[in-house]
Amino acid sequence: MDRVKAVVDACRARNLPIRIGVNSGSLEKEILAKYGSPTPEALVESAMGHAALLEKFDFDDIVISIKSSDVNRMIAAYRLAAEKCSYPLHLGVTEAGTERMGLIKSAVGIGSLLCDGIGETIRVSLTDEPVKEIAAAKDILKCIGKRGGVRLVSCPTCGRTRIDLIGTAKKVEEALKDMDKDITVAVMGCIVNGPGEAREADIGIAGGDGCAVIFRKDGTQRKIKEEEIVSELLAEVERL
Ligand code: SF4
Repeated sequence: MDRVKAVVDACRARNLPIRIGVNSGSLEKEILAKYGSPTPEALVESAMGHAALLEKFDFDDIVISIKSSDVNRMIAAYRLAAEKCSYPLHLGVTEAGTERMGLIKSAVGIGSLLCDGIGETIRVSLTDEPVKEIAAAKDILKCIGKRGGVRLVSCPTCGRTRIDLIGTAKKVEEALKDMDKDITVAVMGCIVNGPGEAREADIGIAGGDGCAVIFRKDGTQRKIKEEEIVSELLAEVERL
């Protein structure tokens, strides 16, 4: 308790919050014995126990993180924690894995909770370069409307596609990935289903046969050649 008090005093003096981090891999032995495994209830009980320790010293500048590598368990634990306390919650799927599965797990776990209004800060954990964790976190926030930026809408292609839509969409995405403008850009494969999405977007194209129609938000449209799609689309985005 003396050591806890020393930490609390030091943090209070510097106006620093304390993050309580509970992880399913390092749960206290007694709690593990009580629940048999790191269940959501066990994780939350551990977090609340640590919070109570700090509260004994009248300290409540606390952030709680309850991480598990299991997405269902992580979601259930944070939901329970949100019911039991009003401390800010730091969300994350821990040891989520390599880029692809780590990103999917994080998007499902963190995204589900954020959509329910649970969570104040997030961390994406990938077995990869840290910059990819930041990019993934930004994209999760962007696709649920909690952060601005370019949202790309593009179709999966089908028998109607007559242009190199996959290559075009990838080039457009790469060119716009760091842009701060809060806009939607649609890259669609055909004139049957494409114009609807393209018109809804701030700027969009719908592919034809060796050509495309570019749609502006103001309702105007014009035909361009396939090889002009990327440059014309980017030029229009610049004008927005
Ligand atoms: S927008 Fe057109 S090309 Fe793209 S998937 Fe739909 S129907 Fe196919």
